[in-house]
Amino acid sequence: MRMFLCVKTQKLLSRVLSPSATVRWRRLSCVSSPDEDKPRPSVLRHLTTKLKATGPIPVAEYMREVLTNPVTGYYVRNNMLGPDGDFITSPEISQIFGELLGVWIVSEWIGAGRPKQLQLVELGPGKGSLACDVLRVLAQLRSVLGDASASLHLVEVSPALSRLQAQNLTGDRSQEANAEDEPVYRRGETAGGLPVSWYRRLDDVPAGFSVFLAHEFFDALPVHKFQRTAKGWREVMVDIDPEKPGQLRFVVAPSPTLASSTFVQAGERRDHVEVCPEGGVIVQQLAQRIAEDGGAALIADYGHDGTKTDTFRGFKGHQLHDVLAAPGSADLTADVDFSYLRRMAGGGVACLGPVAQRTFLKNMGIDTRMQVLLRNCSDASTRKQLIGSYNMLTDPAQMGERFLFFGLLHRSRLTQPERATGLTLDTKTKKSPLPPPVAGFTELSFS
Ligand code: SAH
Repeated sequence: MRMFLCVKTQKLLSRVLSPSATVRWRRLSCVSSPDEDKPRPSVLRHLTTKLKATGPIPVAEYMREVLTNPVTGYYVRNNMLGPDGDFITSPEISQIFGELLGVWIVSEWIGAGRPKQLQLVELGPGKGSLACDVLRVLAQLRSVLGDASASLHLVEVSPALSRLQAQNLTGDRSQEANAEDEPVYRRGETAGGLPVSWYRRLDDVPAGFSVFLAHEFFDALPVHKFQRTAKGWREVMVDIDPEKPGQLRFVVAPSPTLASSTFVQAGERRDHVEVCPEGGVIVQQLAQRIAEDGGAALIADYGHDGTKTDTFRGFKGHQLHDVLAAPGSADLTADVDFSYLRRMAGGGVACLGPVAQRTFLKNMGIDTRMQVLLRNCSDASTRKQLIGSYNMLTDPAQMGERFLFFGLLHRSRLTQPERATGLTLDTKTKKSPLPPPVAGFTELSFS
C-alpha cells in the first residue's frame, strides 16, 4: 500500500506535466499606489526619537519597526522582490517550484480523504507568483478535485504587495473593503471564479480544512538575540551610537530582560541564540487549526535545526547589507530555527522534516518536470534560463541545501487506519492499509 500515494502522486504529476505544459513568463511589473509617490518619513528619525524616549530596544522590536511599521515599514512600502529589487525567491526563479507545491497540496488533500472544502492559505505571498502557479495546477487537476470547493486566503501585512498580488491573481476582479478595520481587507476572484480573500493576520482566516503555505515568511518575523556572558544570558539591544550621531549600535543589556529569562532554553550550549516568538505563536496557531479542522502546513525557508548562532542580516540590491545602516532601505532576515518551530507545534500534530529543498523537489519529481519543459522548448535562451533556474533551486551550493522544507500534518495522516470492527465475515482477512506516504518527504517511486 506504500506505493498507493506514490502512484497517485505520480498520476497527478503526469497530468500537470502533460506535453502541452509550457514555460510561463512572469510579469515583473509593479503596481504603483498613491502612497508610493509620497516622500517617505525617515525610519531612522522615527527610531532615534523612540530610542531617546525609551532607551535601547530589543532586536525584535527594531526588526518589527523596520519591516512592518504601518507607515514606514520596508514591507509595507516596497516591492522588493525580483531582479530589480533586493532579493529573489524560488517562486520568482521558476514556475516549476509552485507547480510542484500545487501537486503536494492536492496529494495531501487526497491523503486527508478528499474533504469537500479546500482552503489554500498562504502566509506572506510576496508578488503572488507561488499562488498563481499553485492555482494553475489546481485548475489542471479540476477533475481530480471533483466538486470540492477551493478558495484562496492570503495573509499579507503590506498594502502595496496586496495590490500587486490582486493584480497578478485576479486582474481587476478585486475590491478593497470599505472600512479599514475589516478582517478581510480585500476580496476578489480569479478568472476561473475561485474566490480570493486578503487578511492582515492568520487569526482572521476562517476555520476549515486548510493547506497552509509559508515560503520565506518565517525568516521575516522578528527575532530576539541573546548573548552568553560571564553573568549569564543577556539580551542584545539596539541603541543610538553616542560617538557617531545619527547611527545605531548593538549593546548588551546589563541585567536579564523578561525575554532573556524566558526564551533561552535550559541547557543551551551555544554562546549566542536567536529566538522568534512570533514565529512560535504562528506555528502554534497552525498546529491547533490542523488538529481541529484537518489539513497540513508546508513551511519552506533557509534555516537550521537549532545549531546556528548569529544569522541576522540585511539584503539590499542582492548584496549583504549592514542591519543597522539606513534602516527601512533593506530587507532584514534571520534563519529559521526549525527545532524551535517543532517544539512550539507541540504533540497535537505530526511534524515532518526539515529536509533540504533539493531533496524535497527531487522527491516531488522536479527532474521529470524539467525534461518535459526542455522537450517542449526549442529556443536556446529559454532552455538556458530553464537549466539555470533548475540549478539555482537544486544545487547544494546555491539554494538546494540552504533552504529547508518542514511539514505539519494532522496526526491521523501518518497513523495506520483502525481495522474495521463490524461483524462482516471478511473482516478477519482484511489487511489495514498503511497510510499513504507524504509526497516530498518520501521519494516518489516511478516504477
Ligand atoms: N513568499 C514570497 C514572499 C517572501 S517576502 C516569496 O517567496 O516570494 C515576505 C512576505 O511576507 C512579504 O509578502 C511580506 O509583506 C510578508 N510579511 C512579512 N511580515 C509579515 C507579517 N508579520 N504578517 C503578514 N505578512 C508579512
